[in-house]
Amino acid sequence: MTPEHRRKSARSTEPGTLAKESCGLDTEQAQAVESLPMVYRATLRKAFTGAASPRQAIKAKCIDCTCGHRCEIRECPSNECPLWRFRPYQKEGKT
Ligand code: SF4
Repeated sequence: MTPEHRRKSARSTEPGTLAKESCGLDTEQAQAVESLPMVYRATLRKAFTGAASPRQAIKAKCIDCTCGHRCEIRECPSNECPLWRFRPYQKEGKT
């Protein structure tokens, strides 16, 4: 199972659970934001709204792909992913 598959299976689809902070996003984007730990939500929201830098957008994608598990991003085995060389957290302890 790739990180992307794990993310999709973990995402909640319950209606009516979207918080006010997710306004401005479509339903799927809001669900993606809300499926993450709080610490990562702003990064993903910025990426969805176009407010993120390219580096932040890559970080957002990797966070979304792994449901916010830094160690999975660092140890990501999916070197066929175009973002693989650019993924964050490649160095231990770096945020
Ligand atoms: S490089 Fe990032 S987006 Fe690509 S598979 Fe790995 S964690 Fe997911």
